[in-house]
Amino acid sequence: MLIQKNTNVLHNVSEWVPTDSYGWVINMLKLAMKSLSNRAHGLAHVQVDRGSTPLRAFAMKLDGKVEVFINPVFKPSVIGGSSTEEEECLSVNGKFNVSRFKKGKLISQNQSPVKLSGFDARVCQHEIDHLDGILISDAGEKVTS
Ligand SMILES: [Zn+2]
Repeated sequence: MLIQKNTNVLHNVSEWVPTDSYGWVINMLKLAMKSLSNRAHGLAHVQVDRGSTPLRAFAMKLDGKVEVFINPVFKPSVIGGSSTEEEECLSVNGKFNVSRFKKGKLISQNQSPVKLSGFDARVCQHEIDHLDGILISDAGEKVTS
């Protein structure tokens, strides 16, 4: 599986997934996650080199199981606060400190709403940033050590 790294494509805003494409997009992302085994907690469609238009979909592991979310939106819990932590990305070199909301709700068009907190909420926001063309190198500060 080819992962896009440091290409302009990664800054494109992904397009909404049409209903008749849900099936293959879900299968493709599940397969891509499987091929990466434990290297990725999440993966956005734009990161997978298919030579196609980036689509608004991502996969992430929840309770050890890979779930795919189509046309997702993250609704942060503002009173839950935010925190800054180190993040890595298969598409970006280096580590970056990124501020994220600690809690929120993930709404999508193919799954029931999911309440997320902590690490899962962080992964979700990282992946949705990908769908908006935002990388950790845009959102965060490079970790120097
Ligand atoms: Zn990433």
